[in-house]
Amino acid sequence: MTTNKINILTDDVIGKISAGEVVERPASVVKELVENSIDAGADSIEIEIKSAGHSLIRVADNGEGMSIDDAKLASRRYTTSKIRDINDLADINTLGFRGEALSSIAAVSQMDIITCQKNEKSGVYLYIESGEILKTRPAGRVNGTTVEVRNLFYNVPARRKFLKKESTELAEIVNVAGRFILSYPGIGFTLTHDGKRFLDAGKNMSMERRLKVACGSDIAGCMVNIPELAESGYEVKGYISRPSNTRKDKRFQLFFINGRFVRNALLSDAVYFSYKSLLERGRYPAVILFLKVPPGNIDVNVHPAKLEVKFSDEKTVRNIVERAIKSKFEEIKTESMMPASSRIFNPFLETKEEKRERLFSAETETQTEFSYGISGEKEPLILSGTERIFQISASYIVQIKGESVLIVDQHAAHERILYEFFSKASSDNPSEVQNLLFPARLDLSTGESIIMEKLAENFRSFGFHIEPFGEKSFIIQAVPAVLEDRDVKTVICDILGDFSSYNNLSEIDLREELIKLTACRSAIKAGDKLSLKEMLSLLAHLAECSLPFTCPHGRPTMLEITVEEIEKRFRRT
Ligand code: ADP
Ligand code: MG
Repeated sequence: MTTNKINILTDDVIGKISAGEVVERPASVVKELVENSIDAGADSIEIEIKSAGHSLIRVADNGEGMSIDDAKLASRRYTTSKIRDINDLADINTLGFRGEALSSIAAVSQMDIITCQKNEKSGVYLYIESGEILKTRPAGRVNGTTVEVRNLFYNVPARRKFLKKESTELAEIVNVAGRFILSYPGIGFTLTHDGKRFLDAGKNMSMERRLKVACGSDIAGCMVNIPELAESGYEVKGYISRPSNTRKDKRFQLFFINGRFVRNALLSDAVYFSYKSLLERGRYPAVILFLKVPPGNIDVNVHPAKLEVKFSDEKTVRNIVERAIKSKFEEIKTESMMPASSRIFNPFLETKEEKRERLFSAETETQTEFSYGISGEKEPLILSGTERIFQISASYIVQIKGESVLIVDQHAAHERILYEFFSKASSDNPSEVQNLLFPARLDLSTGESIIMEKLAENFRSFGFHIEPFGEKSFIIQAVPAVLEDRDVKTVICDILGDFSSYNNLSEIDLREELIKLTACRSAIKAGDKLSLKEMLSLLAHLAECSLPFTCPHGRPTMLEITVEEIEKRFRRT
């Protein structure tokens, strides 16, 4: 007797297994049903759920509806009105096209569909259980479709067991609905849970209010609109948070491509690079980007729930996103990127004369001369009747300016100055280089010398000439002139130490990281005493920076305390 080990699965089992790919949880049912309503041309979509979607999910729309025959077909596997053959895949303008959602959901729930086409007198009601149509009858309804999904996974105990806590699931459903509210500004949405209205965005609600509905006022309040950029069929628009308003995770980085919410590493990477030196490690901006990509240049058929996409021209996408975000920085540079409480000091709003007057010194105009050697002059120094500069704790420069006090973190400020200075240097535009009278020799460990070989070229790009000198040894021949009186050997050793602690060098932008570390390691430190001249020079150079308010890691370089704030602290207001 032969005993076969391989069984041919029945359609019912196949349906339930493949349903798992599309319908992972209640939130994915909400997503699929709403997408169908959008594809049907609805401009009003009502979502109602009970017990976080575990007992009921109902989506009602005013879209084009289905004929009786189509409604009967819709819950069968691989039935769709959106594509006909494989060629249509290259040019998809609808959210759906795989013809899997309704059948997948129907296979693992009890489903009611009521639908009525425009200009039809009567619609149809269907009841489907485990994918089988058990009842059909005529039903009255204005044009549109209502799909009700009850007892999701009632017939798949293994899945039901893994349903998340109600609060978790509800949060995800709110996220899903919020994303639709953002990406379809022409459609009105409501979300009701156990009879309570959770989200409500009318058809004509402005984008600004939609942001508040979807993300909450805190996030919405710190976001600014980026200028729209359109080019060869691509388009970017959206909202970004000011660099001073970052979050500890990427939850508020939302990307929409042709109306579809997607997760995409390329896009988060492009965002990260646009902010680059403005972010503290482990902090992320809030970003909501809407991209239009020619349908032929994107593959949306790489993920069952279409949460992932592939671009045929990644470079163009990346480039346009980075440019859109950076152009906003250019624009808000002239406002202030500081949070409201510490705004006011803004070098960009001053005329050159005002600046000179404020800084009270003409000696500080030269660009490259900022070595801030350490000196032991006595502070405070009185500059004029109204303007005084002090150094406190040998770490902060304090400037009294009429009605307010400006405090500058000398290390962070110098880091910013050096960072921008080195970043500007390139092979066609090298920074001034100083040959060392006594070249310094570095004798490194094997690990360090491997890193040094990788870094030498990048070091050279901004003014360090470091040559191999036998096995594991290197000679520092020249350094950027601005660092000539720093202890560059220690600086370089520290940098090698920093790089050794990174797990994967191939994943980081070496030059960028090297410049950040060089700026950090060679900047004046907290504890370094500065002369008046050095303080003035530092403030002047900071004012010349294109992004003076944060150090390359995103920490603030300065804060200003106004009389108003002082009064608040004394509870006078
Ligand atoms: P897809 O969206 O990939 O085509 P679905 O299984 O989600 O597949 O839906 C199958 C078909 O049912 C759709 O192509 C559409 O014709 C029809 N349909 C589903 N939901 C609606 C709706 N809300 N309004 C009108 N037609 C719908
Ligand atoms: Mg669909």
